[in-house]
Amino acid sequence: MIITKNQEEFCYSGFNPDCEGEQLCDLNDAGEERPWRAKRLATELLAMVYDSVDDAKANRLRGCATQLGFAVLDGGKKRLKEANFCRVRLCPMCTWRRSLKVYGQARQIIDTLDDYCFVFATLTIKNVKGEDLSEAIDSLFSAWNRFYRKTRIVRAWRGGMRTLEVTHNVNPASRDYDTYHPHLHILAAVRKSYFRGRDYISQADYTDMWRDAAQLSYTPVVHVEKCKSTTSAALAECCKYAVKDTDYILPDDWDLSIDTVRTLNSALHGRRLVSWFGVFADARKNLKLDDAENGNLVSVDGNDETADVAQEMIYYAWCGGYSQYRRRREF
Ligand SMILES: [Zn+2]
Repeated sequence: MIITKNQEEFCYSGFNPDCEGEQLCDLNDAGEERPWRAKRLATELLAMVYDSVDDAKANRLRGCATQLGFAVLDGGKKRLKEANFCRVRLCPMCTWRRSLKVYGQARQIIDTLDDYCFVFATLTIKNVKGEDLSEAIDSLFSAWNRFYRKTRIVRAWRGGMRTLEVTHNVNPASRDYDTYHPHLHILAAVRKSYFRGRDYISQADYTDMWRDAAQLSYTPVVHVEKCKSTTSAALAECCKYAVKDTDYILPDDWDLSIDTVRTLNSALHGRRLVSWFGVFADARKNLKLDDAENGNLVSVDGNDETADVAQEMIYYAWCGGYSQYRRRREF
């Protein structure tokens, strides 16, 4: 069924007869409800912020994930097959899908790397003001390029994934209030002999090498730890999307929301937020994984698509008046 423009408008106004269907309930493998509604509501709030920043992006956000099509699997589980994602970088809905995708890809890659252990590293620089954020991210990436080419790193880290995270201090009582903290997370593969071998690098040496690579006049905060398991919190931390939406959608401070979205919108524009190197990049190629940032956001968990052919499809539409996804009537 194709939804016409008029039906979409009805849908926004809450008078769409399609809005009489059952509410969406989509459970993950752990039996928890997937956060479609919460992400859609956050996306609507962000659209209101974008009204003061970029009209075109505001419109794209308003149309994000208004239509969802699921295949119904054996046992009644749903698998997303169709959706209209807006792909605006800060969109809470799309960032959720991207982080699931990055996580799914990282898991698939790690599953092929039986011969390795993993370390989780966080490389930071000092907080910066909004007007300096873009330049700080440039410096961070240049520092990374020097750091991961250092002889000791090349010897110890056989590959890995690198993600950028920017946190925004929104605590008015903090002396760092309204400053930004750009930093890198790296999940690196090391040989199993690394922790007792001569390639081992101490926390102090990592810190010195990062300070040198980033050309800093102060001692930066660097944290490196061994991952106890590859399903660890480290992987989840690495796969979080670049910025939490609660760091820039601040319903109690609309002016700060607008200012923050403007800052992040420009500082993150055109950036590669996730990169893969060494054995991680090789595994990506072998697994024929698509781009985690620009690839499709419908299929995110790496499950074999051919395993669920020819199921019944069911469709849901976002019904703005009810603030719910409701099943569409079939014609
Ligand atoms: Zn979106």
